[in-house]
Amino acid sequence: MTSVTLTIAGSDSGGGAGIQADLKTFQELDTFGTSALTAVTAQNTLGVHAVQPIEPAMVVSQIEAVLDDFTVGAAKTGMLFSSEIIEAVADTLKRYPSFPLVIDPVMIAKGGSSLLQQNAIDALKEQLIPLATLLTPNIPEAEVLTGMSIKSLAHMESAAQQLLQMGCTAVVMKGGHREDEQFAEDLFMSAEGDYFLMKSERIQTKDTHGTGCTFAAAITAELAKGATIRDAVIKAKQFIQAAIEDGLGIGHGHGPTHHAA
Ligand code: PLP
Repeated sequence: MTSVTLTIAGSDSGGGAGIQADLKTFQELDTFGTSALTAVTAQNTLGVHAVQPIEPAMVVSQIEAVLDDFTVGAAKTGMLFSSEIIEAVADTLKRYPSFPLVIDPVMIAKGGSSLLQQNAIDALKEQLIPLATLLTPNIPEAEVLTGMSIKSLAHMESAAQQLLQMGCTAVVMKGGHREDEQFAEDLFMSAEGDYFLMKSERIQTKDTHGTGCTFAAAITAELAKGATIRDAVIKAKQFIQAAIEDGLGIGHGHGPTHHAA
């Protein structure tokens, strides 16, 4: 039977990130994607023009509509924008039988626009991260969540440990923002003591819009199909690496990656 996936995230009118990236990835990886919209952004490859959050009650209604009907195999959260939306999402998810939950702690778009209000960080840490099967921060996000400055692999390790103490089951910290010219190194650590690094050659491209969303969505799809967290992360890394290599070259700014399995 087809596995059902759910994304709780923002819309990117440019189609490269957010809900659109998630649904395309869910489809490419042979799952049936459902969605609950948290915000609408007017956006293209050059940047974010405007952001309009959705009423928290409407976010809840969308999640309920999906979960009352479908057996969801795994879900992810992306842009959540406010503490009110985060609390509403956490309270709603707690009312349903649990499934693997991937939390991509989206904060700032590449162009610098804020996708999460400053006062929502505590709600993210206290309400949502404890529900996470997997947290997928990049380095700037891990720095905000932990208050640490992350410059080395040793820093990444201690930040990951601190994130696990917030109550998530596992963390994959994406190393793409570290200043290494040649390699990007992602770190995986679980509360059970599993640990591995994924080192990849840096791809010279400007088409990296939505890579975080796509990576987290690919993990979610693999989890929905029954993979272990470790295998889901490794498969999703291969998927995103190929998607970056295969960038479409459309738009005038940071173009989208190519969603092909
Ligand atoms: N817009 C939305 C709605 C998103 O969810 C995200 C993802 O994290 C972004 C934009 C950011 O995309 P990027 O930083 O890859 O350009």
